[in-house]
Amino acid sequence: MKSYVLKMARKKRIALVAHDNKKQDLIEWVRFNRGLLEKHELWATGTTGSLLKKELGLEVNILQSGPLGGDQQVGAKIAEEAIDFLIFFWDPLEPMPHDPDVKALLRIAVVWNIPVACNRSSADFMISSPLMMEEYPRQVPDYSDYRARQVRLD
Ligand code: PGA
Repeated sequence: MKSYVLKMARKKRIALVAHDNKKQDLIEWVRFNRGLLEKHELWATGTTGSLLKKELGLEVNILQSGPLGGDQQVGAKIAEEAIDFLIFFWDPLEPMPHDPDVKALLRIAVVWNIPVACNRSSADFMISSPLMMEEYPRQVPDYSDYRARQVRLD
């Protein structure tokens, strides 16, 4: 598929999302990496963001709670190029009322080719990449053929 380059700035727009059983993990990870993360613009779903603010005093833009539309807000921001990095500690052992939203968010991250970490070790590798503090030419798939496709109407 053809693609084009979209420049990711040095200052990344990072979304932080964690399911309830993973919130402790995320808070610990953010606490450890706080110095680095504060150089970027942070977004979070409702409860995750409130906890990051309360526990760490972190400056973070807070969206709706995940099950109330927050995951979809993050997905929409990815699609409109307002978020370019996702840390999403989802819980593999609990069915969620908003499972379709979780799947949709993970899907949209792949559609737009943004970096995603779903567990601490992936997040560790991502945050320690030299690309974190550089501009990055993100390859975005060119969906113009898809948009121009013929749709048959009866
Ligand atoms: P929360 O949402 O931060 O509001 O708990 C997380 C999620 O379930 O997506």
